[in-house]
Amino acid sequence: MDDIKLSISQIRDAASQAFTHASGLKGGHNADYIPYLANIDPDLFGLSIVLTDGTHFDFGDTTYEFGIESVSKVPTAILAMKQHTPRGVLEKIGADATGLPFNSIFAILLENDHPSTPLVNAGAISACSMISPAGDADAKWKAITDNIADLCASPVKLIDELYKSESETNFNNRAITWLLKNYNRIYDDPMMSLDLYTRQCSLGITCSQMAAMAATIASGGRNPISGKPVFDTEIAPKITTLIATVGFYQHSGDWLYTSGLPAKSGVGGGVLGVLPGVMGVAAFAPPLDDAGNSVKAQAALLEIMQTLGLGIMNGQNVTIVK
Ligand code: GLU
Repeated sequence: MDDIKLSISQIRDAASQAFTHASGLKGGHNADYIPYLANIDPDLFGLSIVLTDGTHFDFGDTTYEFGIESVSKVPTAILAMKQHTPRGVLEKIGADATGLPFNSIFAILLENDHPSTPLVNAGAISACSMISPAGDADAKWKAITDNIADLCASPVKLIDELYKSESETNFNNRAITWLLKNYNRIYDDPMMSLDLYTRQCSLGITCSQMAAMAATIASGGRNPISGKPVFDTEIAPKITTLIATVGFYQHSGDWLYTSGLPAKSGVGGGVLGVLPGVMGVAAFAPPLDDAGNSVKAQAALLEIMQTLGLGIMNGQNVTIVK
């Protein structure tokens, strides 16, 4: 096994350079199937890193609150595992990559009635239906947002305009929800579960908050910013596995192969990356590639991993020295 020693300034310099290089990139388009997202300034760009010792670096627009979108599937999957154990989530939802777009109805049919993973729309709506206490939308919403606040070490709030925009246009997700209900994969009221999912996608989050969430996962459940234990250590490798297998939509395999970084994208332009034991990273820039991954965010994260010679599959023992 390789031993790698990295200094904090090496990590900060690699991130700073990656940010500068990615800032110059053109290409991609804002998501436009949700009207609110189409109108976000495409030039916004932020990059944040939180190391497992709590050291953090921020570059660019890291205090701007953007739509968390699909990245919200990560905290709610963690909450479902906290409430029902990782095995319970495997049995009720599954952990399979679909290889198909995140909102695929076809995937539900192909998986033999199974939502497949809590990190695509079907499984995420199913995960929202699993959150306790059943039947109480307000209490479920509180559980979902309290958990996100614990992971971020600060509260997040709803972007009302985004919520309205998504609720008025989420016809595909309504179809997914009723199909799941038909297959007994919705464990509470279907439209309440869909509404919770739509609301969680409409939360505003900053890049620094997202990096703190990633770092909590990288630290095995203890938030390195607040010091608070948020979830049991046994959940960390499970959520990281889900992120690695499906986090980059249908480019997940190519991404992991190239970057060595388990990462989850959202169509709001955010990307959350987890390198267990080392760091959480987050980047945000609205223009997306054809699979829905932020062009600048993925370029920055890839460059950081390559400059530092890191990768989850490398079998490295990484030590960070002051
Ligand atoms: N709210 C979005 C949807 O359900 C999230 C999609 C995403 O970020 O992948 O379509």
